[in-house]
Amino acid sequence: MKKYIGCDLGGTNLRAAIVDVEDGSVLHQMSIPTLAREGHDAVMKRMADLFLQIIQSAGMKRENIGGIGIGVPGVLDLEKGETLFLPNLPGTWPHVPLQETITKRTGLPTALLNDVRSITNGEWRFGAGRGVDTIAVFAIGTGIGGGLVINGQLHLGIGGTGGELGHTTINYNGPICGCGNKGCLEAYASGPAIAAMGMKAVAQGLTTRIAELCKYDFNCITPKLIARAALAGDEIAKDIYERAGFYIGIAAANVCVAIGPRRIIIGGGVAQAGELLLDPIRRALRAHVTCMPVEQVEVVQSQLGDNAGVVGVACWVAKEL
Ligand SMILES: [Zn+2]
Repeated sequence: MKKYIGCDLGGTNLRAAIVDVEDGSVLHQMSIPTLAREGHDAVMKRMADLFLQIIQSAGMKRENIGGIGIGVPGVLDLEKGETLFLPNLPGTWPHVPLQETITKRTGLPTALLNDVRSITNGEWRFGAGRGVDTIAVFAIGTGIGGGLVINGQLHLGIGGTGGELGHTTINYNGPICGCGNKGCLEAYASGPAIAAMGMKAVAQGLTTRIAELCKYDFNCITPKLIARAALAGDEIAKDIYERAGFYIGIAAANVCVAIGPRRIIIGGGVAQAGELLLDPIRRALRAHVTCMPVEQVEVVQSQLGDNAGVVGVACWVAKEL
């Protein structure tokens, strides 16, 4: 049985893994700095070299590898195998023929997929989404990514653009989001939005453990620090997670009405707050969905952590090629 390479093209690190797509295990992995400021040609060369190197260092041959899947942080043209807009990489990579370039340089068939759709596929096949046919994933970190599996199929939509759940509008008069729209979920509940709520509380002089924990250094206020304060009983910190969870719950309520998911999976760094975040999401869902059996929708934390993307995109490429 051939193995597949899954790659996570991050703004900081390039990560590659050799994946057994039968059981979702990572057999071997390597990570190098992306050095994204050197431009897309240099990065693509480093990627191809990394793939050839990981095959060698795993003691395998190119013939043992069925193909390469690359999880890409941004908008793609799946049909042409090009990147269209990668907001976190210098130059944003418009019309870069990533698929063709990697295939030429490695001699291996290659496919691209959005990074959070890769995570969605990984969680569905081998993580928190196992065993059900319809799920929604919210990946909450610096931004909010998303993905959907509907009736046993990873949902792609036009050119693979379907499932950007962080950019569903939860307040049409809200603040401007990084995408240009007003009032997206991402502007309310991403890691930076949660940190900003903590900073505001400290700046307002409210009595909160957040101030002690960060020693009045605003740069130290992170979702993780706010979660620590909340777990120590701080009401203001708890309220911040309450609000973030409520906003995610509103977006999730719309998703429930649209696709009737069995499970909603919350991933990304911010999800490490666990029940602090999941509980208000569940309550907002129950309060705002009436036309489908929302009590049957489970809201759970992701399970695969950093491996979800590389496993998911490797499984994707194994199925597509
Ligand atoms: Zn947006």
